[in-house]
Amino acid sequence: MSVVQSPETNLNVLKSLWTWIVRTTERVFQPIENLFYVLVVKQISAALDRIDPLSHRIEGTLFKKILQVTLYPLFMAATLVIGFQLVRNGYTSQTFLASIGMYLIYGAIWMPLERLIPFSRKWLKNPDGSTDIMLLFGNKLCGDWIIVPLQLATIAIVVQQISPTIGQSIWPSALPGVAQVFLLLVINDFFRYWYHRWMHENSFMWRWHAVHHSSERLYWFNGTRSHPLERVGHILLWSIPLAFVKAPVEIVFVSYLMSRTIGRFQHTNMDVILGPFDFIFSSPKNHRYHHSKNITEGNTNYGGDIILWDLLFGTFYLPKGKQPSDDIGIGGVVNYPKSFAGLMLAPFHHGSFQEQAKAPVPAPSPQPAE
Ligand SMILES: [Zn+2]
Ligand SMILES: [Zn+2]
Repeated sequence: MSVVQSPETNLNVLKSLWTWIVRTTERVFQPIENLFYVLVVKQISAALDRIDPLSHRIEGTLFKKILQVTLYPLFMAATLVIGFQLVRNGYTSQTFLASIGMYLIYGAIWMPLERLIPFSRKWLKNPDGSTDIMLLFGNKLCGDWIIVPLQLATIAIVVQQISPTIGQSIWPSALPGVAQVFLLLVINDFFRYWYHRWMHENSFMWRWHAVHHSSERLYWFNGTRSHPLERVGHILLWSIPLAFVKAPVEIVFVSYLMSRTIGRFQHTNMDVILGPFDFIFSSPKNHRYHHSKNITEGNTNYGGDIILWDLLFGTFYLPKGKQPSDDIGIGGVVNYPKSFAGLMLAPFHHGSFQEQAKAPVPAPSPQPAE
């Protein structure tokens, strides 16, 4: 006798199978994540703990104020100078290796500085540090093996089909190098702005970008927290238009470095004061509003490197005389995963977190009278 299962039963079987896949993947990756925590994050954290007494001591001093106002322009200028130095003889493999070394040194400086002048002491606790390291490696592997080859092949085919020479005569090579770098940042950010805005305003796209917003604290390294598939959209919406802007490779390299430095500061926990730079760059202060749980604040300041397009398209948000809250994350969801594997799989069942959020809170059971 054959048993015909109802569609509802089939759906429940599929749901159970999916839950099993999620749990098993989490069980496989969790020990690696724990190992990273014990070997790297915990050790660095223990070393940095020694800075805390000094941090309290410099509170309200002129020394702290000097650090707050000088760090941002200092690192931006240093990135420009070092960047142009690295490509003075063209772009070579040494240029690439030196740029990695440069960010390792920058990171080693930023970590103690975040302890010394933190915007939020709550954000100094780092239970998610190992998850972010795993996400960096995961993104790197996925990028190197799948996304970048796919991106390059698509660009090559499209550019070849349309015209390999288009754009060459348009780029203003006669301008000073610094001006060309900023021009490229402005053009790049136009595409980045609209892609980022679309990810916030479209529910299908939001599920991928939610991984970036799942962080409950901001610090220099968590700009790397994103889902690798978020980058697939870059191929059509971002990389191809940029491929027609044929800036010299040296300019592309220096603007890439500038973008990295801006990105690290954008997420930093250093309590830096930017003044007028808050109206030029995607700064720590305006990006903290972008990570707000409150959607009216969160759906603002989409700029990746600069804030010009937000100013022009009406999404700039920087209220005067107010500081952004340090209570950040995704508003309106519950039980959003925190582990590497959980975050990788989260976009595939994003609805379940929303469903839980919508589900009515059960009424408390009546307490017996004492
Ligand atoms: Zn965002
Ligand atoms: Zn961010």
